[in-house]
Amino acid sequence: MKLNLNKIPSNIVLILLSLTAWIIPSLSLSFAVYLLTNHFIVPFLINLGIVYLIGYIMDLFFKYKTQNKILKFEIDTKTLELQQSVEVSCAYCKVINVIPVKLNIRNTFECNSCKQINLMIFQFATAQVTTPLETNLLGANNNGNS
Ligand SMILES: [Zn+2]
Repeated sequence: MKLNLNKIPSNIVLILLSLTAWIIPSLSLSFAVYLLTNHFIVPFLINLGIVYLIGYIMDLFFKYKTQNKILKFEIDTKTLELQQSVEVSCAYCKVINVIPVKLNIRNTFECNSCKQINLMIFQFATAQVTTPLETNLLGANNNGNS
């Protein structure tokens, strides 16, 4: 009979995996202790506690690392937003506001002066790529007297 993990709710699978990851190392350690000392139950309970503590500490550690990654991602996102800012004048009072621009959402902002909600409208245009005149692209040594 093949076990189909897709039919079991994922939280039950997680609990079973956690129990397996808790009990198998405890059993292995206890078996080693049993081979040396012929005692099983007390070392098994002690190992359960030790493995639980190790798992708890690892969980705290990974939560801490994950939170740091999320925090860094949020800081990077905010930094990027600040880099992609434009100065626009308020549609109501004409005061200049510096607004972060995102192209994937509808951009609105509250004016710093009059507190009215403004909608940002973008207009895109194209231009030919040209080389400015009087520019030596190959460096100072390429003036014909090599
Ligand atoms: Zn305004």
